[in-house]
This record gives sequence, C-alpha cells and structure tokens, in this order.
Amino acid sequence: IALPDGIFGQRRNSVGVELGDRKALAAFLAERPSTPPNLEARSDIDHTASASGAAIRSPIDGHLVGVSHHLSAASAAKLMDEARRHVASAERVPAAARAKALRRAADLMETRRGLFMTLLATEAGKTVEDGIAEIREAVDFCRFYADEAERLFDAPVVLPGPTGEENRLRYRSRGVVVAISPWNFPLAIFVGQVAAALAAGNVVVAKPAEQTPLVAAAAVALLKEAGFAETVLHLAPGDGATGAALVSHVATAAVAFTGSTETAFAINRALAARNAPIAPLVAETGGINALIVDATALPEQVADDVVTSAFRSAGQRCSALRLLFVQEDVAERMTQMIAGAAAELSIGNPADVSTDIGPVIDAEQKAMLEEHLETMRRTQRIRFAGKLPADLPEDGHYIAPHIVQLDRAEALDREVFGPILHIVTWKAGELGKVCEAIERTGFGLTLGVHSRIDETIREITERLTTGNIYVNRNLIGAVVGSQPFGGSGLSGTGPKAGGPNYVARFAREQVISTNT
Ligand code: GLU
Repeated sequence: IALPDGIFGQRRNSVGVELGDRKALAAFLAERPSTPPNLEARSDIDHTASASGAAIRSPIDGHLVGVSHHLSAASAAKLMDEARRHVASAERVPAAARAKALRRAADLMETRRGLFMTLLATEAGKTVEDGIAEIREAVDFCRFYADEAERLFDAPVVLPGPTGEENRLRYRSRGVVVAISPWNFPLAIFVGQVAAALAAGNVVVAKPAEQTPLVAAAAVALLKEAGFAETVLHLAPGDGATGAALVSHVATAAVAFTGSTETAFAINRALAARNAPIAPLVAETGGINALIVDATALPEQVADDVVTSAFRSAGQRCSALRLLFVQEDVAERMTQMIAGAAAELSIGNPADVSTDIGPVIDAEQKAMLEEHLETMRRTQRIRFAGKLPADLPEDGHYIAPHIVQLDRAEALDREVFGPILHIVTWKAGELGKVCEAIERTGFGLTLGVHSRIDETIREITERLTTGNIYVNRNLIGAVVGSQPFGGSGLSGTGPKAGGPNYVARFAREQVISTNT
C-alpha cells in the first residue's frame, strides 16, 4: 500500500492507529470489508414502507449503496406518539446502566471500525484519515457522555439552606428528544447527539441527514446491541418534511440540531408555533470562519495549518477556514506557499490511503460550489485552481481545491461549504478593521490567529466572541472533552458538544426543599 507522507500533519485522532505507523495502518486497513453490507435505513414504526425507498448513491461514483425508507409526515407523527409512551420507563433506567451501555457501544464501535470505515467512505466519501478521526470522535462522545451521565445523575446536589431545611437539586430526563444531524459527520455528530440525549435518560428520535442514513442505521443497531432498549431509541430516516413533522409534534421536549442557520431558524419557529410546553433547541450551525495572520507568523506553519483547515475533508466541515486575513507585507509569499502546498494534495477515491481530498457529498453541493467559483472568476482573482485527475468516475462529485483573492472581505457573504479558500489582505495598524469585518458576518464558530505577538493575540481573543479560537494551529478537529465545540451568534446556541454543560441541557432540573 502506498502510504502518505502526511500533508495534513495532524495525527492526534486515531483509533489505536497512527497514520505514521505504516505497519499498524496496513493491518488496520485490511479490516475494511471491500464493499459495505447491503443496508437499509428504516424506522421501527414504518413496517409497511416498501418500494417507496430513496436510493442512496455513493458520492465516489454514483453506485447504489443502499435504500432509505423515508418517513412521511404522518408516519413521523406516529413515531413520536409511540416514543412518548416510553418516557417514564426510559427515565427509570439508572444512570449507571445508561453509562454502561454507552461504554459498551464505544467498545463495539472500536471492534467494528473496519465496517464503519467502509461505510463512511462509500456513503459519505470520507478519506482514510477522516474516517479514522470520525470513528475516534464517536467513540470519545460515548465515553465522555457516559461519565457525564454518572456525574450529573448519580446523586443529587446538596445546596445550602438554614438549619432545619434540606435543599437538593437533581437532574431528570426531559422526555422525547429529537436529534437532527448533518451528512458531513454522519457517524460522530449523529452518535454525539444521540449519546448525550440517552445519557440524560430521554427517549430519542434521531433523524439522520437525507444523504447519509445508512451509517446512522448501523450506529442505531450498535447502540441497541450495546444495551439500549428498542423503546428508547428510534431512527427516523427522511428529508426536510420528516424533520419538520418531528419538531412540530407536541411530544418534542428538546431538539438537538446541527446543520444550516436557516434550518435552525425554521426549527425555532416550528417549536414556538406548537401548543405545547416550551422546548429548548441546541443548535450548531455554520460559519464564515476566519484566520488572521500577521507579519510575525511562521510561514511554513501557516501554510500547513491553512491547507489543513481549508481543504481537509474537502472543506466540508463547519469548522473549516473560509476567509484568510493576511497582513499585506507577507501576503504574496504566504499565498504562494499555500498554493504550493495545495498543489500537492491528491484528489480521488477516498478509500485509497494516499487520497487527501475525496468527493463532495452530492450533485447539488457540487453545482453550488461550481456556481460560486464561476462568480469568483468573474468578480475576483483566482490565485490557484487545482486540477482534477482525468480518470475520476463520471458520476462522482469532485471539486478541486481553489484559492481566491478577494478585493474586500464582504465579497464572501455566505458560508461556502467546500474546498475553496478566500484571501484578503490587511495593512499594519488595521487589526481593528479586520475584527470588525469578522464581527459583521454575524457568525462565530471558529477563528484562528497566527502571530508571535502576545498583545495581538490578546486583542483579538478579547474582542471577538467566536466559540472556538485556535492560536498558532489549525482550526479543525476539536477533541471531545478538551475542545468542547460550538459557536455563538448565527453559528449556534451552545452549550458546546463534548463539553461539561451539554448533557445537562437535555435534562430538567428539579429542586426539592424539605423542612426537616
Ligand atoms: N467538530 C468538527 C471540527 O472541529 C466540526 C463539526 C462540524 O463540521 O459540524 O472540525
């Protein structure tokens, strides 16, 4: 096997295998089944659906991977009715048992990593490196939220009070939690939302992205094998109409959502329009993520971190770098170095270990990215245009990495979800204007700073309210428990996934004050 020299550099997230360790990696890759099992995504209520299934095609070459039986709005409502019948019994499962099942799920996922690698590559176009990182993250979520279940639910918190009065705060489940997840992390984010809501003792109805229901179906089967009852976890494959029916249902007690800002607004409206108790929304949405580079930054490190942040996962991460602000004095040199590194990236079949950039998810995303590039060609200056290899499958959805020089930051006015980096320059003494431009986007998910001046770093991190700020490193791959992830403003509500406040959001607090 031809193994990579590691253009993306970062090797932290692995499932017991470092990409640098060639022998271990070769053994690991040998575990992958060459084709995924013939999977179907089906809800447990939807026994009657048959030929109505939607075909799931691989972004690699368009081949049929499996079938998703989309829930109609009526079936989705029926599923919610069914789910709410089990709220009381779900809450009676002790936190220790929920934690045990989550830890068992983590162990099983590690054992089945070969299967998940194949599914992630075929259904979602994930490269080997991304597949390894994603399985690791899903495993980490299960273990982290298992610890959280025990920490929060094991014993009530005793609060102060006058003599003769006892005050105790305890956490209780909310009821039915609806989890709606995106295609770009079809395993990690799907499992993260579900695991947190299960950790809090809820019944969970989980709607995976329309494009990636098969990985989700495999994850649900695994969670049930790990110990969660059929009655507490329900898969709800479908499209936007399915999601709308779920969040509009009166039984929805909370929603976990990762996806676009527009959809988060729509969910908020749907929740507010119900004649039902107020339900919280935990939303993680998009961003126009920026990296500010000044003249003191280390050029080689900047180039490496920019390429990783903008192009890894074909730029299909909410955290990915979209807008690079480089100080004028070093801009030309930096741009050339970044373009040089980008030219080294190999584009192709994500199952090949030497591939750096796989396909984008579907024809619609590809068309949107091409349209954006067309506008950029007309109105701005293209500094680098990657070349697609000639032998790519015709029905695959590939986009080569691009670097666009903008005449002003406002020329990028929305999140462009793909391998396209935009660069703007700034003049010494105008850091305030750069911060203003970032604030004006209204988003606040990730932000990077490359500088060796402490005062510059301080000024930026004090002024901006961005959720995750990365100093002198890349912007992606937040690690569960170490870098809780989530944004502010148009980028999300918080609390952060993989952080100390997340599971509690899927629980109600109750205080019992007793006169003793
Ligand atoms: N947590 C991921 C990261 O830090 C991004 C998640 C997303 O794309 O929604 O790269």
